[in-house]
Amino acid sequence: MKIMPNRLDKGFYMYQKEFEQKALEVLRSGWYVLGREVSSFEEEFAAYTGSRHCAGLASGLDALWIAFRILGIGPGDEVIVQGNTYIASVMGITINGASPVFVEPDKYYNMDASRIEEKITERTKAILVVHLYGQASNMAPVMEIAKKHGLRVVEDCAQSHGARFNGQMTGTFGDIGCFSFYPSKNLGAFGDAGAIVTDDPGIAEDVRVFRNYGSEKRYYNRVVGTNSRLDELQAGLLRVRLSHMEELEADKRRICSRYLKELNHPDILLPEIREGASHIWHQFVIRTDRRQELIDYLDGKGIGTIIHYPIPPHLSEAYGYLGMGKGSLPVTERYAETVLSIPLYNGMTEEEQDYVIEAVNSFR
Ligand SMILES: *Cc1c(COP(=O)(O)O)cnc(C)c1O
Repeated sequence: MKIMPNRLDKGFYMYQKEFEQKALEVLRSGWYVLGREVSSFEEEFAAYTGSRHCAGLASGLDALWIAFRILGIGPGDEVIVQGNTYIASVMGITINGASPVFVEPDKYYNMDASRIEEKITERTKAILVVHLYGQASNMAPVMEIAKKHGLRVVEDCAQSHGARFNGQMTGTFGDIGCFSFYPSKNLGAFGDAGAIVTDDPGIAEDVRVFRNYGSEKRYYNRVVGTNSRLDELQAGLLRVRLSHMEELEADKRRICSRYLKELNHPDILLPEIREGASHIWHQFVIRTDRRQELIDYLDGKGIGTIIHYPIPPHLSEAYGYLGMGKGSLPVTERYAETVLSIPLYNGMTEEEQDYVIEAVNSFR
């Protein structure tokens, strides 16, 4: 059997008719950028998250850097972020000229809230919380610290569509929630797409103006903005997928409950779920000191795996200028050396699940 770490085509075939119908509808409409599909998606996604406002954007990275731009965070400012994240989180900060200040993760792979305060300086302006792999972060202490120190909170929800902390949806705790709809995300488009959600009407309006060359009214430009518009085709296809989120979530939850119950190996650590947090399983991430051996063994059985992520941002070439050497974030670095994501996708069959479980358990 051949099992890829992710299969996006299966997610398409689950609702093929609806996707094809919507695509044809948009193609035949004659309106392709910022139209009815986008505004309907914005309304529906705001309602889904429980936010007052949503603004569609071209990508998750755009959502992040535009969020900090609108909050006025730039050169000389510091933003606290966890060390173990996808590098886009950090670029969202540094594109604006602000500096990332890294905090180590906890055992749930999210920001260790007990280590935030020691990183706060007079330059700290915001905390960027990343709900990594699909599990909601420990938001109660994060919000308390932010309030105490007068900091903004931005949430990177690129991996957490639908995940909750104490019943509240990720993306709605801070000032701005940033989402990516990159095809592999839990709510995925068929190309690039992103959005911000917020309860603040002023922020929502500023983002809508900024994404369209800083223009409210055609050819009247209020600020120097950018082009980060969501197109009608992606918005329409996202609406189809959004209407099935409950089933899609339940499908992944079923697979991961099996993994949690049936995977059993002395050298492999399974993911844990924080009390009060929900996990929407963007990835199923295990940890082992014998990672390369396990990768090669599974590869030999036709099972693909991915490392999320092999090089933490502070050790990447791109952020060499921060001057942080190996050993500066030991927990983050240890995770980078030992994490492994095993196959997980909507539409994964029972036989495929059986095969992965049996293979991992018989690793010697
Ligand atoms: C995917 C991702 C992003 C970036 O989203 P794009 O739409 O690819 O720009 C940002 N942060 C995290 C945590 C992600 O997983």
